[in-house]
Amino acid sequence: MKYIDEKCAVCGGQMIEKKVEKLLRGGKNMASVNVTAEVCLHCGERFYSPQIIERFEEIELELEREKTQNFQMVGHAFQIAF
Ligand SMILES: [Zn+2]
Repeated sequence: MKYIDEKCAVCGGQMIEKKVEKLLRGGKNMASVNVTAEVCLHCGERFYSPQIIERFEEIELELEREKTQNFQMVGHAFQIAF
């Protein structure tokens, strides 16, 4: 975790850089990715770099098109009716 010299765009709080887990969804598929994000210590808002957001969109498209052969299967997703 690293303090960065930037204020949160939402609340003006102190930002840090750290690894976070992000859940991506495309069609019926989901994937979790570990990425570096800028996170606000005050409100918890996460900010990603434009390159990372672009990669998220690619992954979501691949999930939607079932192009998951390069992804590692780690478990099953369940849907529960309430
Ligand atoms: Zn904030």
